[in-house]
Formats: sequence, structure tokens, C-alpha cells
Amino acid sequence: MNTEEKSINQEKQQKINRTLVLRLLRQEKLASRADIAKLSGLQRATITNIVKELMDLGIVVEDGILSGNKGRRSIGIRMNGGNFGVAGVMVTREYFGVSLIGLSGEIHETKYFKLEETDSVYESIQRIKKETYHMMAAQKDFRTLAVGFAVPGPYKIDGDEIIFITNLVGWDGIPISSLLQEGFDVPIYIENDANAGAFAQLWNYEKTLAKKDMAYIVAGQGIGCGIISNGVLLKGALGIAGEIGHTTIDHCGPRCECGNYGCLEMYCSMLVLKKNIRKRLKNGENSYVREEYERTGNLSQQLLKEAIKKQDIVVKEEFDKMCEYLAVGIINIINQLNPELVIIGDALAEIGGEYMLNKIKKKIQNRVRPIIWENLQVELNEIPENPILVGAAAIAAQKIFENPAEFIEGATKK
Ligand SMILES: [Zn+2]
Repeated sequence: MNTEEKSINQEKQQKINRTLVLRLLRQEKLASRADIAKLSGLQRATITNIVKELMDLGIVVEDGILSGNKGRRSIGIRMNGGNFGVAGVMVTREYFGVSLIGLSGEIHETKYFKLEETDSVYESIQRIKKETYHMMAAQKDFRTLAVGFAVPGPYKIDGDEIIFITNLVGWDGIPISSLLQEGFDVPIYIENDANAGAFAQLWNYEKTLAKKDMAYIVAGQGIGCGIISNGVLLKGALGIAGEIGHTTIDHCGPRCECGNYGCLEMYCSMLVLKKNIRKRLKNGENSYVREEYERTGNLSQQLLKEAIKKQDIVVKEEFDKMCEYLAVGIINIINQLNPELVIIGDALAEIGGEYMLNKIKKKIQNRVRPIIWENLQVELNEIPENPILVGAAAIAAQKIFENPAEFIEGATKK
């Protein structure tokens, strides 16, 4: 190995070590240099150097005294999430959300905004950028170093366009990353919503997962899935991996707009649930939701949640069907990817809660091999803030962890 190769290797190693230290500090919240050395397996001197470098940048600070083994006392180190952070932005078909999140994951501020139906996609993007920028600029002593955007559809990685979105007219084929980046003086990152949600779950569970293989099921207006394989987002050749909503449930079923027949999303989603309930109300069936539906013309999430709790026959029967279909979709994912953890989130999970979870778990248990079931956890989303929003921010934070100096120096110049 020549000298140049050696120094490149050393630089690479330093980068890996630094990222590891930052990730550990985020997980531990507060730790001594000795704790970090022990957890990372790195030399004490290496940790001392890295911590000094990160303190010089300002993203890590000393905070109080920790008492350890045998009465030994040491200085606590933590991320400076009060002064440095990222913005996470999520865009749905009807609204967008912006969250300012400290580097260690604490939420400073979250706001949601309605998107106007009459606005063009370009007007919507301008509005999303304006509100995000305003929130960033209004923060005192808090520097946003990067922005993560979660968009409602797979984003083509090596191009600059969203290549496949259902039910969202106008967003196909636009140069989304240059449109979003324009006007921001910090880097932006784009990910599709299910992947962002999965990434948020990985951050949440990073300490406890053994193999870091998991799937996050977004059971909302459509059905999506973000997959983490060995700690890394699985994207596929074009970034379309995890389109569970377009896997076949009935190969003789009706044609889906994706081109396939009998896709899961045609049988199971919040939209399908509402459509089926409305049909039964129209047929004159008696239901807990009838009065409010007739008064407001709306089947709100809260109303459906109450109806399930009250065991309303119409809503429960229709919701049970959603659970059946969703379980089939999840079983397909389990047999393909063998995750150690499956998390179900979004609107259907929010209205169904434990009732839904138990139904789905039972079905999975009956239909997969015992060894798979014994090594599988199935849970509901537990992140209180929207995981897609948190994940968008986490993806941006991860980039900062890989090379903090680049972001801090970049931001200081402004
Ligand atoms: Zn389809």
C-alpha cells in the first residue's frame, strides 16, 4: 500500500469512527468518553480526539458529571441538539408538515399546512418551501443544517423526478430535487414517505434490534412499505422497492392503474374502507356513523375509531376485511424478506389500534412457519410524532453524522 492509499484509508476509517460516535451519542443521550469507548470498541485516545473535533464544531458539548463504577466520576458528553438540527418535511396528497428537530432527535416545533386543491404542483412546492424557510428563519440560536423531504411516492434515485405516484396528478416526471433545492442555502435530501417512515423506526429501535432487518407498513390512503435490510434502506434499482400496495392479492382481479391485476391497494386502504362503508350506508344499513356522516358528509378518522370501539357492525365488518387483506400483504413481505420486526402505522393502524394488531398477528401466526413466527415481532407504530416527518429529518441528520464539518462550516459561512 502506498502512502496516498494509506492516508485515504485512514481518512475513511476516521469518518466511520466519527459517524459511529455520533450515532452512539444520539442513542445514549448522555455518555462519558469511557462509555463511548466501551460501546464503540474504539481506543480511548481515538474517542478523545473525535470528541474534541466534534466539540470544536459545536455539535457536541460537555454536560455535567457522571458517576460510574467504583465511585469514578467522569464528564458527560451529549449532542448539542438545542443549537443544531435539521428540518423534516412531509408532503401528502392533502397537506404538508414541517418539523424542526435537534440532532439528537428532540422536536423543537411542528406545523401542518393544508395544500390548496386549486394550486398547481409548482405553486404547492413554492408554498412548502416558503413555510419551511419561515420556520427555519424564525428560530433563534438554532441552526438548521439540512432539510429532508418525504414525498408521497417513489423517487427515482439517479434521475431528478418522481417516477411513479398513484392518485396524485401533476407530480409525475417533474425535476423535484432542483425545484426543492432552489432557494435553500443548506443541502436537501428526498426520500419516499414509506422509506422515511421506516428510517424513523430504525432510529427508534436501533439499540434493540439484533439484525436490523425490518419493514414499516404505511397503511393509510394507500399501502406502502419501507424496508430496512441489515440497517440500510432497501431501495431497488429505481427506488421502487417495497411497493406492497401493488403486489397481487387476486390475479383474476380488476386492473389497477399500475398495470397489474388485483393489487392489494384495490382491496385495502383507508379510501377503500370509506368507500365500502358509504356503500352500505347508502343501502340503508343501520350504523353508529350514519348520523354524523349525514350531517357532515364525512367519515372522519375519529368517528371510525369510535365505531370500531363500539363494535358497530357495518364499520367493524368492513374494517375486518381491511385487516384480512393487510395481513395477506404482510405475510407476503415476511416470506420474501424475513424481517425481525414489522411495524404497522398510519391511518388504518390509528383507527384500529390493538384490535387490528391482534387480528393481524393471529393471521400471520397461522400462516407462516413456526420458526419465522418465533423470531418475529409485529407492533404498531409508537413514535408519537408522524414517523414520516421524523424519518425525513432523520435521513438529513444521518447525512450530517457522516460528515459534520462539511455542514457546519457550510452553514457558518452564511
Ligand atoms: Zn397496482
